[in-house]
Amino acid sequence: MDEFTLIAELFAPLAAGFPGALGLRDDAALLDAVPGTQSVVTVDAMVAGVHFLPEDPPDLIARKLLRVNLSDLAAKGAEPFAVMLAAAFPRGVAEEWLRAFARGLGDDLQEFGVHLIGGDTVATSGPLTLSLTAFGRVATGAAILRSGARPGDDVWVTGTIGDGALGLFAARGELAVPPAHAAFLADRYRLPRPRVTAGPRFARFASAGMDISDGLVQDLGHLARASGVAAVIEAPHVPMSDAARAAVDADHSRLATVLTGGDDYELLFTAPTAVRHELLAEAADIFMPIARIGRIEEGAGVKVIDASGRPLAVGLGGWRHF
Ligand code: ADP
Ligand code: MG
Repeated sequence: MDEFTLIAELFAPLAAGFPGALGLRDDAALLDAVPGTQSVVTVDAMVAGVHFLPEDPPDLIARKLLRVNLSDLAAKGAEPFAVMLAAAFPRGVAEEWLRAFARGLGDDLQEFGVHLIGGDTVATSGPLTLSLTAFGRVATGAAILRSGARPGDDVWVTGTIGDGALGLFAARGELAVPPAHAAFLADRYRLPRPRVTAGPRFARFASAGMDISDGLVQDLGHLARASGVAAVIEAPHVPMSDAARAAVDADHSRLATVLTGGDDYELLFTAPTAVRHELLAEAADIFMPIARIGRIEEGAGVKVIDASGRPLAVGLGGWRHF
């Protein structure tokens, strides 16, 4: 399948709902400026052998690529509306592979109400390399930044923490847990659930926020540094799925994986204590479980404490590329 057939047959249908995409038949896409809003733009690249396995199902690769970007927009309180895809496909990639990739991307674009509005397609003698740019909108000045946390604020997370990191081990067959738990965790790793509805709904409460991709402790460290504050995590309050909880109960050293491992794609945010009840009501309204896991203090760094307030020695590791 040549580049032009690929774009016209597989990608152009994914642009059909967005007039400014010009049917993927022009040099660039047109975005209408919406008064009173800011565009929020993010990009993430994924390389075969680094971010996914070359033999992973193509539809899942496409969906994860989209979802990690939507998670970044949600973390800023933005609603997504469009994406662009730059793809370097290995020479001779099978047509079936490309069709499955486009199908997975199309399914998820539809699920999240987002359109493909352009991109670039090249061939490579190296590994499959994908880069997706996502566009969202937020009311001017309403974006959630990493830099707004203040001493006294609560620290909140959505969903459950640690499934992604445990799921990576489960996906590799390296986590000795019951099969149903392994399947649940592996699925959480393979297919993140970006909190696209929750992010915009929490924007008016959050003083700061980000999504958790590199591990709770490390990412909270980024937020604390950007805000010029310290953060305390109360380990017993960190929400875990039944599968993660059972895995940690069976082997307590896995708590470090839960707290510092990556790939959660949950939202991490801070909010003044005064909005606790309103925030919980907002979360309940969209059936989004949220948990208060700690607090912001004066100072620097992240401290993890146990039920009696003693510091826990989990490495500040998390996942680092460099
Ligand atoms: P140019 O040579 O002007 O860069 P291309 O031939 O690369 O144009 O692209 C033609 C059209 O197809 C453009 O609208 C571009 O955005 C779109 N396009 C190319 N590759 C992709 C892709 N991987 N995903 C979505 N749109 C794409
Ligand atoms: Mg051109």
